[in-house]
Amino acid sequence: MQTQKHGEAMRVEAPGKRRTKAQLRAEYRKHQQIAYQWANHDEWNEAVEHLAKKLAKGGKITPAIWVEAAKRATVECDRCRGTGEYVWGAIVNGRATKKGVCFACEGKGRQNQGDFIRNRTYWNHVKVV
Ligand SMILES: [Zn+2]
Repeated sequence: MQTQKHGEAMRVEAPGKRRTKAQLRAEYRKHQQIAYQWANHDEWNEAVEHLAKKLAKGGKITPAIWVEAAKRATVECDRCRGTGEYVWGAIVNGRATKKGVCFACEGKGRQNQGDFIRNRTYWNHVKVV
């Protein structure tokens, strides 16, 4: 007759899943740095805090939740002011002659980490004189 140690096997966590506090802090700072280079600092911090509270569902906000919130936080797009539409060209009778999907937020009206990275790369390559 064989006995299996179910209890022990169940307690094993997936490798690489658990991050130390230092790793979490570094990850948070990475997202923050990216956001700070593009978005308004206060606005981004507010968005992260708001999302962290939502993710914690009224409970304690753990370092992992802060990281998740930093990763997913979005801010209103300053290029289109949240409309998702980019207008340019001459204004004729109060209306812009040209418009299209906002490139900075891809028409979402809000920018996330992916947008920050893309926009930063774009503007670093295209030097505006
Ligand atoms: Zn936009």
